[in-house]
Amino acid sequence: MKGLVIKNTGSWYTVFTEDGRCVESKIKGNFRLKGIRTTNPVAVGDRVEIEENREGTAFICQIEERKNYIIRRASNLSKQAHIIAANVDQAMLIVTVNYPITTTVFIDRFLATAEAYRVPVKLVFNKIDRYKAEDKEYMQGLIHLYTSIGYPCTTLCAKTEEGLDGLRADLKDKITVLSGHSGVGKSTIINKLIPGVSLRTGDISEYHNKGMHTTTFSEMVALPEGGYLIDTPGIKGFGTIDMEDAEISHYFPEIFKVSAGCKFGNCTHRHEPGCAVLRAVEEHYISESRYKSYLSILEDKEESKYREEY
Ligand code: GDP
Ligand code: ZN
Repeated sequence: MKGLVIKNTGSWYTVFTEDGRCVESKIKGNFRLKGIRTTNPVAVGDRVEIEENREGTAFICQIEERKNYIIRRASNLSKQAHIIAANVDQAMLIVTVNYPITTTVFIDRFLATAEAYRVPVKLVFNKIDRYKAEDKEYMQGLIHLYTSIGYPCTTLCAKTEEGLDGLRADLKDKITVLSGHSGVGKSTIINKLIPGVSLRTGDISEYHNKGMHTTTFSEMVALPEGGYLIDTPGIKGFGTIDMEDAEISHYFPEIFKVSAGCKFGNCTHRHEPGCAVLRAVEEHYISESRYKSYLSILEDKEESKYREEY
């Protein structure tokens, strides 16, 4: 029997079968990702084959090849990772330009990590009812910027539900991760989409970030129109993943495109002569805010290298 893993509580996995049942399952066999140790070999979003037994439970005996997966390391130094979700169709990053402020550095880091995971992202600007003229103008600027790079943007007022039908249509029949700072309206949105559901999106991830515990709990919740939202600790952002210096620019599509014209193949686009990226920033072809975010990831990495040496 084939099915979809919709919940992971440690050693048990809930599999939603093709004939519409939920079967509690354990793992049989050895499923490992190459190169990393994971706390959970099977994850929410995995399509699996199960063998059912007389007790009404089952063994997962096969996993279909994943199109992508999102992992989180227990800590920066840890080699062990938790697979948060597999086969993610998209991420919706909920952004507020005010109340609270979402910075472009936060947005760009999220986008870069999502590129590395091969998860398409849509930006949803929420709380449009609260913005003053200057906030709106700033938002329009961001929408113009991100749309031009290739990230679709929409606006939403979760409070009055303006734009909610559009969001519903975008979520239908897809597995979606909903992310964004605490306070941007994620719980409000989820409650409007799935009345009566109570999710833990915010608080557990705070715990997680403080390193108080490493949770292994993940769940997907079904949308009434079809499709799933992933409700998982640690999805506020994606965290940062291991990126080689030279690799970082690959995750900024417009920087990567221009970098083909740099004089040196190993150009870091900071101070090298003949750098096509620096020229494009000067000519406003690449936005300064995007370039700053690129540098912030590069500099973070330099700092962590330094820490590891001492
Ligand atoms: P979360 O931390 O991302 O889950 O955010 P919440 O859903 O808890 O929302 C934080 C606050 O913003 C709550 O007081 C919501 O009522 C409020 N809020 C959410 N969406 C909107 C909106 O579109 N407009 C306004 N004015 N307030 C909103
Ligand atoms: Zn360069």
